[in-house]
Amino acid sequence: MKFWDRWDRIKTHTFAGRRFHVIIDSVDGLCEKEESNETPNLFINAARPDRTILEAATHEAMHACFPTMSELRVTQSANDIARLLWRMGYRLGDK
Ligand SMILES: [Zn+2]
Repeated sequence: MKFWDRWDRIKTHTFAGRRFHVIIDSVDGLCEKEESNETPNLFINAARPDRTILEAATHEAMHACFPTMSELRVTQSANDIARLLWRMGYRLGDK
């Protein structure tokens, strides 16, 4: 199974007890705030290199988990986590 087949099945994901719609497309990373009873959207741009997608997914997941965390802290933390995962060999493979 190719990775994009798995991505097609990701419609929602729960972060820290809050449900988000996950939209994997060509829109740059974005995590909407939970402002009402509606399910917010989390966007991940799939039209990027592997490392950038890993950083973006980690970054937006951090926003979803910690909605009040500063942008600087999210960026630093997400990049640190993504760098560790990258060093451990996490890759998408064929794209
Ligand atoms: Zn951000």
